[in-house]
Amino acid sequence: MNKQNLFAFIPKVDELLEDNKIKELLELIPRKLVIDSIREELDGLRNKIKIQSIDKNFLEEEIKALPNKVYLNALNKDSLKLKRVVNGSGVIIHTNLGRSLLNEDIINNIKEVATNYSNLEYNLDKGERGSRYDHLEYILQEITGGESAMVVNNNAAAVILVLSTLAKDKEVIVSRGELIEIGGSFRIPDVMEQSGAHLVSVGTTNKTHLYDYENAIGEETGALLKVHTSNYCILGFTSTVESKELNSLKDKYNIPLVEDLGSGVLIDLSKYGLEYEPTVQDSLKNGVDIVTFSGDKLLGGPQAGIIVGKKEYIDAMKRNPLTRAFRVDKFTIAALEATLKYYLDENRAIKEIPTLKMLTMTMEEINNNAIDLCNKIKELNLGSKVNITIEESYAEVGGGSLPLEKLPTKCTVLSFDELSTDAFERGLRNHSTPIITRLYRNRIYIDLRTVRREEFPIILAGIESTYRNLEGV
Ligand SMILES: *Cc1c(COP(=O)(O)O)cnc(C)c1O
Repeated sequence: MNKQNLFAFIPKVDELLEDNKIKELLELIPRKLVIDSIREELDGLRNKIKIQSIDKNFLEEEIKALPNKVYLNALNKDSLKLKRVVNGSGVIIHTNLGRSLLNEDIINNIKEVATNYSNLEYNLDKGERGSRYDHLEYILQEITGGESAMVVNNNAAAVILVLSTLAKDKEVIVSRGELIEIGGSFRIPDVMEQSGAHLVSVGTTNKTHLYDYENAIGEETGALLKVHTSNYCILGFTSTVESKELNSLKDKYNIPLVEDLGSGVLIDLSKYGLEYEPTVQDSLKNGVDIVTFSGDKLLGGPQAGIIVGKKEYIDAMKRNPLTRAFRVDKFTIAALEATLKYYLDENRAIKEIPTLKMLTMTMEEINNNAIDLCNKIKELNLGSKVNITIEESYAEVGGGSLPLEKLPTKCTVLSFDELSTDAFERGLRNHSTPIITRLYRNRIYIDLRTVRREEFPIILAGIESTYRNLEGV
């Protein structure tokens, strides 16, 4: 039969709409998506006829399969594209997986603000227009000891705003050892250019001295910038100038000292057995005028860029037109305020903020969870093709924080006789609630530092259905 005749067998959209399976679908999802899916599947079929040599029998089978294909295609179209996943990777602040988690109470605060009117830009005392930047100022002053504070969309925006306000068309002095890239195309030289400030890099990759900074100071100097090298370390023959020392130059020449801390640590984590990471409070105590940091890294809150420090500088930032472009929305303010409140009591912060909770989890708890998950997987009775063990490993802080920190952890590990590890990993990743794991030496690691017990049922369902799909049972 020639191709032209085959095309004649392809059903019309209207005919498919009369199919029972499709009628069932129309009850579930918008008609527009159903029709889009029908068109796509029909186009696919026409293409097959065009480029493959298929016969009439084959075509009839394909046509019979159409309603089912349309059904799956349309359901997929209707599902939300941004969705929850299980993070079994062991990277706590995983930028690709959404960084920090918020707890129930914080979500309730967002809900309260989102489903009602709020005083976002309304001063209740005076009964007149207020500022969205006021809500977080008090609590940030209280926790950090900074004179003033404001919050923008993310830390990248905070750095641009600070440099643009303090050093537009002027020079900013930075150590060559701190010209970092933190991924997602945030590079200090590029950010500097965007802000309109001119980069003056001093010292060398491994060593920078106080006199390097001092020699570079001139008429055009707008600011001294320290960048916390949060995602890497230079070891060996090195020397950097601490903000405490730069403080002396700042006073002598009357130029602002700015520090981009990256992760906003508000608690000394070395108390919990982690490496010391400079806190925002320490930075301010060392004389830094303006500190910037992220809301969703070690602070454990929503995405935000927080700026704290000298009031006169922050007032100038509030007047910068960029502030309007970088402004935080009300959900961020609601979530950040509720997160920051925990920090008024350190023990509560550790207990309630998921990022801090995962960082400070005891080995005993992790181990118990690994054993429980392991036993539950064994109870699925998947047979001898799936081996389940527990292994010691290391988790990571992530988010460009504490790059050398190796957090001990336990993983539930799957290995396979006969089944493909890659296919199994893909199956878990494509589960209705995707399960992200770590592949290492042909085994699948599920890290119990980043997996919570309430996620066990999802993992079990994912493993079971992946197994059945691969085995065809
Ligand atoms: C993460 C980071 C940033 C960017 O912060 P975002 O909140 O992701 O925009 C900037 N500087 C440093 C040093 C960082 O670690």
